[in-house]
Amino acid sequence: METELLKKAVPPLLGWYRIHKRELPWREGRTPYSALVAELMLQQTRVEAVKERFTSFLRRFPTAEALASAGEDEVLKEWEGLGYYSRARNLHAAAKIIAKEGFPRTWYGVRALPGVGDYTAGAVSSIALGLPEPAVDGNVVRILARLFADEETDSPALRKKYAESLRAVFPPETADFTEALMELGAIVCVPNGSPLCGECPWNKLCRAHLAGEEENYPVRAEKRARRVEILNVYVLRCGGKYAIGKRGKGLLAGLWEFPNEPADRAAPTPLGAKGVLATKTAKHIFTHVEWRMTGYLLETEETDPRFVWATADEIREKYAIPSAFRAFTEWVK
Ligand code: SF4
Repeated sequence: METELLKKAVPPLLGWYRIHKRELPWREGRTPYSALVAELMLQQTRVEAVKERFTSFLRRFPTAEALASAGEDEVLKEWEGLGYYSRARNLHAAAKIIAKEGFPRTWYGVRALPGVGDYTAGAVSSIALGLPEPAVDGNVVRILARLFADEETDSPALRKKYAESLRAVFPPETADFTEALMELGAIVCVPNGSPLCGECPWNKLCRAHLAGEEENYPVRAEKRARRVEILNVYVLRCGGKYAIGKRGKGLLAGLWEFPNEPADRAAPTPLGAKGVLATKTAKHIFTHVEWRMTGYLLETEETDPRFVWATADEIREKYAIPSAFRAFTEWVK
């Protein structure tokens, strides 16, 4: 069913692309090498920034051979402004392979070049080699998730599924198809704010749009709600020493802590205290748990043998008390 919908979506997409595609320097006089340079530059850098650097890079290193014979410093210098220099090193290494063995003719060959992942291999194969190989990144996931009103969240499995769907409908115009998908995601079916459905070639097909729910796709991975634990924390003081104990299994296991207990009891455990000197509340957020704590600074007459009793200096120097208890460590002076 999705294949049928996607089949119907190909002709309007190609028609739209031919009219609306942006003029970008890497779309002129393309060679497999220049396509590889462009795709590597575009991996982590905005189109506008790549536009500035691509032309001068290609002028300086017009072929894989020219790039292969350059020194690394020269290459890095020419990459300046694009960041993520490992891409430049990978491109340089790829150029050396290409200069020696020729440009690969298959997706697997392109994929084997340094710095090339599935997406870049698909892009270069379809754009420069005429192979029906899809390039699925977050943009393509977004537009297809909206087209299909797909409830699945983005994942490697979903990208694989979309790659299969695209492979099944690939038209002979392989470069235009891949670039049209990218272009639609870049200028119409945009990620933030509202997609420009009025200008979209898919607005009569797109299930998310027809349901008025464009913004709900792709479905975001739900953040797991944090469990809230409410605790009483006791800073017990006796003759200049403070009670601490070692945590058992679970969160912060093996670290030192002030005595504490879930605050679901009718009244806090007295722990032999003469009186409460101070109280304060504090919160600490872990990835999956949130502690809401009420701390009590208590003076006791005896040192309860269930705890280790340490001076303030010893606690500072010897015992690792996690920052979750920082609000109460301030009482230890
Ligand atoms: S109709 Fe709207 S939501 Fe659907 S693909 Fe087009 S721009 Fe995206």
